[in-house]
Amino acid sequence: MSEQEKINDYDSEPIAFCAKCFSPKIIHEASIDIDYCGDCGCSSIKEATVEEWDRLYEKKYGHKYVVKSNDPKRSPVFKLPLNKLMDKLFNLKQWKSIILSLYPRFPGGLGKADSIVLFFDTIIKDNKLTDFRLKMMEYIKG
Ligand SMILES: [Zn+2]
Repeated sequence: MSEQEKINDYDSEPIAFCAKCFSPKIIHEASIDIDYCGDCGCSSIKEATVEEWDRLYEKKYGHKYVVKSNDPKRSPVFKLPLNKLMDKLFNLKQWKSIILSLYPRFPGGLGKADSIVLFFDTIIKDNKLTDFRLKMMEYIKG
């Protein structure tokens, strides 16, 4: 087999992934000789080519697989400057429920723009920016 063929062959090499959540984080437990999913614990494992798996994963979740970092502060949401974060909230149709999740008694009579300005004033004053960013991680992917 030529070098190029070897490379092509590697590309079509199947990968193992969890049959339930499609995570490719498969852990081999040598003591009982079993493979299981490092994300959900499921021991039902499937195999597919990388392209197939990629497609399946995206179909299931609506986005490509992202390696989960243990530190949420490394997520893109934590790198957004305040004005961008404000834009993001403004453009989310769930903006009101996000505000209410942090401030259940948030005044209801205001318009969207005023609510968001007041909300940002409040979280900055209360030092709740981190809580808000963590909340936004549920809505902003990638
Ligand atoms: Zn899984």
